[in-house]
Amino acid sequence: MRFLTLLAVLLFFGGTACNSQAKVQTATPEAKATTTDAAPDYNYNPPAEAGQFEKIEKPESYWQDLLAPAAYNVLREDGTERSFTSPLNDEKRAGVFTCAACGLPLFASETKFDSGTGWPSFYAPINDVYIQQDVDNRYGMRRVEVSCARCGGHQGHVFPDGPDPTGLRYCINGVSLNFVPEADLPQAEKN
Ligand code: FE
Repeated sequence: MRFLTLLAVLLFFGGTACNSQAKVQTATPEAKATTTDAAPDYNYNPPAEAGQFEKIEKPESYWQDLLAPAAYNVLREDGTERSFTSPLNDEKRAGVFTCAACGLPLFASETKFDSGTGWPSFYAPINDVYIQQDVDNRYGMRRVEVSCARCGGHQGHVFPDGPDPTGLRYCINGVSLNFVPEADLPQAEKN
């Protein structure tokens, strides 16, 4: 039964540009990148000094209480949302995309591009040190996993087929991001 489930998941995601590696797929078209009311301040929570932060290490029960099930599946269980299901895939306003778990600003709208994959895609992070990269050999593929460097939350993968100027494509799950419009950013962040 476990094999059949895995086979179904692999077939479902076969051929997608992100080479998805879902374990248990819980994301639905209705799923949104939301945190619970318990932590509204986590939507945008940059370090006091750019590049400087302490790692957040919490028990899994903390993240389970904080995150909606679909976000928990991606961020803490390395799941993958279905392509073209995140509203953030079509988000074109100016602003910042933050880690949905801890609020670290990971990507800026200036680096977002339409990859056609159905997942929010960026050619660079806001700050390289905010992104943790790990070789991921699961599912018979060699990929580079991308996680939030502060809380360890899984974000997606990075591929070497992106546009200029970096040639990189950060293929990110929308459910593991929050979008903060430029108008809602602190004044200092707009300058
Ligand atoms: Fe985080």
